[in-house]
Amino acid sequence: MQCDVLNRYGDIIARLGPLRPAGRGWLFRCVFHDRHRHEDRNWSASLWVGAKGHLLARCYGCGATWRDYSAYLGVSLKEWFATNRSRDREVKMKPKLIATFSYRLDGNVVYEKQRWEPGFDGRSKTFRFRRPLPDRLRADLGVPPGVAAWVMGITAGVYVRRGDDYVYYPQTGQDAKDGIAIDQENPILYRLPELRAASPLQPVFVTEGEKDVEILRALRFTATCGPYGSSTWLHQWSSELAGRRVVVVPDNNPVGYDHADRVVGSLIRAGVASVRVIHWGEGRYDPGPGGGAGNWLARIEADREARTGRDAMIELALRAKEYCGVGTPRISPGATAE
Ligand SMILES: [Zn+2]
Repeated sequence: MQCDVLNRYGDIIARLGPLRPAGRGWLFRCVFHDRHRHEDRNWSASLWVGAKGHLLARCYGCGATWRDYSAYLGVSLKEWFATNRSRDREVKMKPKLIATFSYRLDGNVVYEKQRWEPGFDGRSKTFRFRRPLPDRLRADLGVPPGVAAWVMGITAGVYVRRGDDYVYYPQTGQDAKDGIAIDQENPILYRLPELRAASPLQPVFVTEGEKDVEILRALRFTATCGPYGSSTWLHQWSSELAGRRVVVVPDNNPVGYDHADRVVGSLIRAGVASVRVIHWGEGRYDPGPGGGAGNWLARIEADREARTGRDAMIELALRAKEYCGVGTPRISPGATAE
């Protein structure tokens, strides 16, 4: 679906600049820079496909509409109604690496998570892990000193070198017999050294993804997430949070809340001091379907009347449902986002 839209409306989309997926659409930096601080680093503008199948855009900061963007880009309004599939380009969208998140420990990269958009095999996005080839294997495999060597995955399996670089890809079936067996890498929390170094008095925000961790860190919060998004939470990660006051920040969809429930259960068993869960409401800054802390904060920051993102986040967390200690979760009132 997203790829289809990118093909159909490629001309417009390319000129609006980089996009970030958000809910069923995307966010982009509003092109009307003079109406925003810092060239709209908050990504205030939304792009989506409306019910009638045409492209729509709106800036939640300055109020610009798709007509304003159309005028700015110098494209006719008709360009936003390219619903006819005959217009589709036979453009094969090539996967592009759009973000790399390093998971570190003791000053070393344990592994990296890459986000590709569009993804591989026609998917809208793909996450890939890679880790440095273990030292003991570097010698065995004749990797020259100082040359980068990567294993494309963190699970146990057989990996085979492809291409001229020292990059080893997972391989199954017949071809696996020429590969090397590599153990599983221990999946650690994102920003684990920073988490361990943080004062126990500081709350720790647990988000679904690394992007929101970075956005919260930019506001001087301590934040972390697991590497698998909403699909998996390992209990070993909860042990890292024992004794802490934790705020779980789900993405705003059923999968996100289910994930948050599992995280809360695990955190309580691990003995956190307290855990709060943010529930997004229908309020003015609601992040929209699938959105999370980053989207909510982008809307707060785009609103010059609002408090700073940091103050707003603290207030939101304090009003969130709190679960204390072991046993039946105690649900406090006033739990929705404004
Ligand atoms: Zn704007």
